[in-house]
Amino acid sequence: MSHKIMAINAGSSSLKFQLLAMPQGSVICQGLIERIGMSDAQVTIKTPAQKWQETSPVADHREAVTLLLEKLLGYHIITSLQEIDGVGHRVAHGGETFKDSVRVTDETLAEIERLAELAPLHNPVNALGINVFRQLLPDAPAVAVFDTSFHQTLDESAYIYPLPWRYYAELGIRRYGFHGTSHKYVSTTLAEKLGVPLSALRVVCCHLGNGSSICAIKGGWSVNTSMGFTPQSGVMMGTRSGDIDPSILPWVAQREGKTPQQLNQLLNNESGLLGVSGVSSDYRDVEQAAASGNRRAELALTLFAERIRATIGSYIMQMGGLDALVFTGGIGENSARARAAICHNLHFLGLAVDEEKNQRNANFIQAENAMVKVAVINTNEELMIARDVMRIALAETETLAVSA
Ligand code: ADP
Repeated sequence: MSHKIMAINAGSSSLKFQLLAMPQGSVICQGLIERIGMSDAQVTIKTPAQKWQETSPVADHREAVTLLLEKLLGYHIITSLQEIDGVGHRVAHGGETFKDSVRVTDETLAEIERLAELAPLHNPVNALGINVFRQLLPDAPAVAVFDTSFHQTLDESAYIYPLPWRYYAELGIRRYGFHGTSHKYVSTTLAEKLGVPLSALRVVCCHLGNGSSICAIKGGWSVNTSMGFTPQSGVMMGTRSGDIDPSILPWVAQREGKTPQQLNQLLNNESGLLGVSGVSSDYRDVEQAAASGNRRAELALTLFAERIRATIGSYIMQMGGLDALVFTGGIGENSARARAAICHNLHFLGLAVDEEKNQRNANFIQAENAMVKVAVINTNEELMIARDVMRIALAETETLAVSA
């Protein structure tokens, strides 16, 4: 039997959604509402056959969800709200509480709200999205899918920072990691494509988008990841610095009289590819500038690749080897240049790329006879969310129906 599952990604002023037919995973419709809170919010809805786009005032997330459901009915994408069998919500932070996706109850929702102290920009708006859907679709079970939970398998030695212990014990400062839904989806898909159980593989997954993170996955478990207490750490990103000498911050604060908020702005919004190149945070723009001879753009691309290589290297040490390297995210899926730079000169590891396959974004791009597989896999967080709704909420419902 096919189920219609809604996957929701609520941001501070946007709501992205996908309605999927499960278990097939085919997209019934997808879209987004942008500029929530403005008089000229943009609503975009696409089915495989048609696309609608309009501007309309949307005061808040409640109105956005109401409008979305009205449009789905109005465009005859569904004929009744009862057709939506379950809703999965992307939630930024699950802290140490949520080691897997969970069915939303009053208690889990309260805990998601409490964890807003760790993700003040994201968890409140995720909780709001969950609340509004629960009110408007009271019969559809809701599941929360956390960016952090896949990394709850990290060993203490990977998640503890060498700070005074009370910062972990009292304030919860540790490596949490993010992009978990993507890393899980991509590693699972890799194993399917290889026809090898994930439990037998040592994988490094490079999710390279505006935000980037690297994840070491051994036997299907996340054993290390480059983002940490926040998504700011690890490799260099579009506008984020990634790891830097931590003492730069107090030094700059003193020298330029910057507040913590200004330092955050500096690290999060003005650094990375944008900061070094001075051109753009967008990898394509920086590639173009480098091609036309911009030296700082060239350096930004080199730095980007080198920091990823250093991270991959450390994960190979930790796992005692590597069976597959996977690229995903906008850059990982599309930039042959980024992949070639990251895989450059690694024959000693049994890792080499076939440039012809790399240029055409083939599924597997390793050179013939190379021991390490190199894969390019399009991430699909919505499908992973919908699968979790099926696994957690609908499996329960079906078990109850059978035992009743
Ligand atoms: P987000 O993290 O916001 O989801 P994406 O995964 O969509 O971001 O990745 C966006 C990045 O992917 C941008 O830096 C963009 O320049 C890059 N990108 C997209 N297409 C290409 C391409 N064809 N070549 C190189 N980079 C690309």
